[in-house]
Amino acid sequence: MPQTVDTLFLNAHVLTMDEKMNQYSRGAVAVTGDSIVAVGHEDEIKKEYSAKEIVDCKGKILMPGLINAHTHVPMTLLRGIADDLRLDVWLQGYMWPVERQFASPEFVRLGTSIACAELIKSGVTTFNDMYFYEDDVATATAHAGMRGVCGQSILKFPTPDAASYEDAMEKARDYIKKWKGHPLIVPSIAPHAPYTCTAEILQETADLAKEFDIPLHTHLAETSFEVDNMRNENGMPVIPYVKKQGLLEAKVIAAHCVHIDVGEIRSLHHAGAGVSHNPSSNLKLASGFAPVTKMLDAGLNVGIGTDGPASNNDLDMFEEVRLAAFIAKAVTNDPTSLPAPQALLMGTRLGAQALHIGHLTGSLTPSRRADLILVDISPAHNSPSFRRSADNPYAQIVYAGKSTDVTDVMINGTWVMRDRQLLTVNEGELLAHAADIARKIDSFLIEREQSVLSKLIALGGSSEEESFEVQVKVKIAESAPVIQALMRNEIDIIYERHYREHDAYFHFDDPSQGRLRYREDDFVDEKGNVTKARTRLTLIGVKREGQFEHEVLLSRSRFLAPATNSLRFYREYFKPESEVAIEKDRLRWLIKYKDTEFYVNLDNVLTPALGYYLEIKSRTWSRKDADSKAHLVNELLELLGAANSETVTDDYIDIVHEG
Ligand SMILES: [Zn+2]
Repeated sequence: MPQTVDTLFLNAHVLTMDEKMNQYSRGAVAVTGDSIVAVGHEDEIKKEYSAKEIVDCKGKILMPGLINAHTHVPMTLLRGIADDLRLDVWLQGYMWPVERQFASPEFVRLGTSIACAELIKSGVTTFNDMYFYEDDVATATAHAGMRGVCGQSILKFPTPDAASYEDAMEKARDYIKKWKGHPLIVPSIAPHAPYTCTAEILQETADLAKEFDIPLHTHLAETSFEVDNMRNENGMPVIPYVKKQGLLEAKVIAAHCVHIDVGEIRSLHHAGAGVSHNPSSNLKLASGFAPVTKMLDAGLNVGIGTDGPASNNDLDMFEEVRLAAFIAKAVTNDPTSLPAPQALLMGTRLGAQALHIGHLTGSLTPSRRADLILVDISPAHNSPSFRRSADNPYAQIVYAGKSTDVTDVMINGTWVMRDRQLLTVNEGELLAHAADIARKIDSFLIEREQSVLSKLIALGGSSEEESFEVQVKVKIAESAPVIQALMRNEIDIIYERHYREHDAYFHFDDPSQGRLRYREDDFVDEKGNVTKARTRLTLIGVKREGQFEHEVLLSRSRFLAPATNSLRFYREYFKPESEVAIEKDRLRWLIKYKDTEFYVNLDNVLTPALGYYLEIKSRTWSRKDADSKAHLVNELLELLGAANSETVTDDYIDIVHEG
């Protein structure tokens, strides 16, 4: 008597992707409950099993569902929002500000459901995620009937779902407890990256992952910039650094690993870490080429991921697997590198192993979960079919197959797509909601882009601060007499500093926006050595608020913040109409004159060579206060022997422009 199972797949070309890469040209698979019971030749399977549901596969390829080893599924809602940008500008200039404004549990559920529709339709049965509100990602994923390793993000900054990292850790713990043991969801913890986490966060997340025996998902060595910074700050590359923090003691899933050497590959292998290779994302963001063949040769479990749909811009694993094969060939200058069977293995079993769930899914093997797909290989773009070599069917899938050739998808023994009809997700309804949100995000960004100030504020980290200054600037022939005059008894010197200042002024089309100054102050000590540098960003209002005798001005600066990013970042983010660089040697004194504090700057403008200028400044708070200070400024000009010097009402920048 044959054993009765739930579903019997007959008349299929079965690619098992198992340890022996068994394939059956007229194969069959038996499924009961959530699991695969048997895989083999149709004749033998039919003898042993009968089923309630018989599926005639009509010669299609029957294979394990694809594993998307790294993504951020809710970002389907941010697909196409900002492209052709560098990673830091894209992330800090667009993604983070929009996420701060829009990410919510509802947003995340909607984005995840849309991703599930796209993933299922393209033959993906499992994905590895990292985002905020991961409880909602997990909820929507389970609702769609998909398998997900869902990682709750942890960063050192406040995030849309946590005010602090302590708060985030507490929520993560509850989240993990809630989902641990779920038939479809594997909860995980996701410290975003070493550069967005402190050493303490890396240590604590590793401890949490070990405590609950769950995967730890993170981005490692994605760009050479990240590796250079790591070397500068910690004297070692990324993998040794995270190892030092105990991260590799957890079941790590490391996304990217573009810039790692053979020693680092060995460390990852020794630790049993999995890697996600993300070809489209690395190409689009010009991150470089991951040493994929070296990782595979070392025995690492390397899966393939799409990365988030805002940096790809799709979740198409067919495209990703093909790209992985193509890039490996181009990079090694060897067309035999990463052949089709191995590329497809990365998209299936190796991917599952990289996610530490190889015992559950990734191959058509008895006792594994029934996560499988049917792929039609009869369309014109995939005809004819050769079967001379065992590699032919793999090549058909990898080099000619398209995600739209996937006709049927079963996950955990349950159908989620039949004959290209989604069964668990209402795509039309979801897309209408997504269009609504896109309109709102567009308005938000349009409004923000109208003002330099709001673009500055959108970067976060500091808030608007207005300051008013009474100031005068005069051109002088030489500096020695002024320095001499500062020694007079009426003037108390509180301190003296010496800087080398490098300023970049950004100009904008609309002068009422003011101008943005990026300043690097190199502090010069008594021996003439540069001892420290600080960088600041100032939005300077062009409008003069008042004018006094001797062209003493009341001016306003609207925003002052430490510049945490590079000049290149701000240039690409603000897109100024023009830019002028000024370098000067500045002696600066803080003095007290008649009980009032003033800054006295003695500048030697070196680039362009404009010579010496004397500036006297004081912060002020009211018009009356400004009046009395303007009066004192004039007295000081007199004392310093500069009362008859030519006053300059403009910044150096204007002098350069007129010059
Ligand atoms: Zn990513």
